[in-house]
Amino acid sequence: MPTPIRILHAASEVAPLVKTGGLADVAAALPAALRRHGHDARVVLPGYRAAIAAAQKHGLSWGESPLIIEAGGIDHRVGVGTTTIDGVPTYLLGCDELYARDGVYGPSASNDYDDNARRFSVFSKAALALPGFLKWTPHIVHAHDWQSGLIPALLERGFNRALPATRSVFTIHNIAYQGAFWHFDLKLTGLDWALFNPMHLEHYGKLNLLKAGVVFADRVTTVSRRHAEEIQTAEYGYGMQAVMAGHSYKLSGITNGIDTAAWDPATDRLAPAHYDAKDLTGKRECKRLLRDECGLHQDPNTCVVGVVSRLVEQKGIDLVLDAIDPYILSGRLQLVVLGAGDLALEHRLHAMQARHPGRIFVWYGYNEGLAHRIFAGCDAFLMPSRFEPCGLTQMYALRYGTLPIVRYTGGLADTVRDVVDGQGNGFTFGPIDLGHFSSVIDRALGLYQHFPEQWRAAQSRAMAADHSWTRVAQEYVALYRSLAFVD
Ligand code: ADP
Repeated sequence: MPTPIRILHAASEVAPLVKTGGLADVAAALPAALRRHGHDARVVLPGYRAAIAAAQKHGLSWGESPLIIEAGGIDHRVGVGTTTIDGVPTYLLGCDELYARDGVYGPSASNDYDDNARRFSVFSKAALALPGFLKWTPHIVHAHDWQSGLIPALLERGFNRALPATRSVFTIHNIAYQGAFWHFDLKLTGLDWALFNPMHLEHYGKLNLLKAGVVFADRVTTVSRRHAEEIQTAEYGYGMQAVMAGHSYKLSGITNGIDTAAWDPATDRLAPAHYDAKDLTGKRECKRLLRDECGLHQDPNTCVVGVVSRLVEQKGIDLVLDAIDPYILSGRLQLVVLGAGDLALEHRLHAMQARHPGRIFVWYGYNEGLAHRIFAGCDAFLMPSRFEPCGLTQMYALRYGTLPIVRYTGGLADTVRDVVDGQGNGFTFGPIDLGHFSSVIDRALGLYQHFPEQWRAAQSRAMAADHSWTRVAQEYVALYRSLAFVD
């Protein structure tokens, strides 16, 4: 029986306590899956006001004495709140002057708090002090994104002498956000000025906390294999490409999983009918009801294509708008879009819907139920992202036998294989231009209309793939074992 591994995950957001993006899902699902494999995984996050309120519903209790964490000559009293969520011991670090605010990273999505360097320096130091408080020594500290980027640096520099054998893993969920601060903030970190150079903490004159994580961690991962290659290039590296290439010897990609219980066409309580890979009768019923709900004509030969997405440039929605008219007019395609975001894109979608009554339906806003009904009721799913570190929706589509049409990038390239070789589960295209995009749509519609048995076979392959966190956790366990002194 191999020794269970002790892992402390440090993340700035953990679902369901606080969530602004996919990091929160990973920081919740991965520790839970590791525990199901018999490992002692725990998670620590800042005690934002809303996170503490949410944790109280899960029986949050506070430790008696606070941690005293120094940053730039000021001592902060950091309380340790403990709760258990989905079987995972979860620690909230409470410090009113830093975290008792309405926002997570700033007062609004487009504004950061001025003292974020302090907020996340204290978080990183307190996360490393937590094992002493708990009298529990992790083999691995797994830090996520720039907010925890100091942790590998502090650990390697011996900040916590009680953790001499603890190794670090640093995962990049979104390389576009790097935690870049003016150089004087180095004082908050407690690290030596000698490290303020381009080989270590400095990036173009600034203190860069993502770089701290990359340089000092024992292993670096990102959320898909393909993206681990991409972030070493200027196109996807957001200025960090040379740093990533320089540390490629310890860089790998592990594709995220999805919640296979919530997203299961055989049991989905948000879908109107159920089905599985052997019998797709329920999917036909879902399609009929989706068309009714969206006011689309019940035309048996038309392929119903779905989009569920933030409406932003990253997701290539502009390309859908540019390309779709001829397919709608020819009666080969109907489109259902669910999304919110960029107002200019919303206006264009609105105009498109007005041009094609009964053939296009757009719903603006966030709608969990409709998202499930779209994955269940559509034939194909469109996701022409410019970049996509991992992406979840293409995996939902696969699981529902809704063939994804995606750009060959990041996690999309890892999960969708083109049917062109007879073994695929969807359709992919490369260069992001109208010609390539139109030609992939042509191929998809051609297969749908003229080779239904091949379409059906691709659906079976799509539905057979394993995207569970159970499988993903095994990849992380192999990574941890390659680092830590455990058998
Ligand atoms: P990203 O994190 O870049 O937005 P992902 O594909 O990784 O993209 O995750 C998006 C998640 O948000 C999925 O769970 C998707 O179903 C959900 N989602 C996005 N837009 C909406 C919406 N308008 N209504 C409901 N769910 C949505």
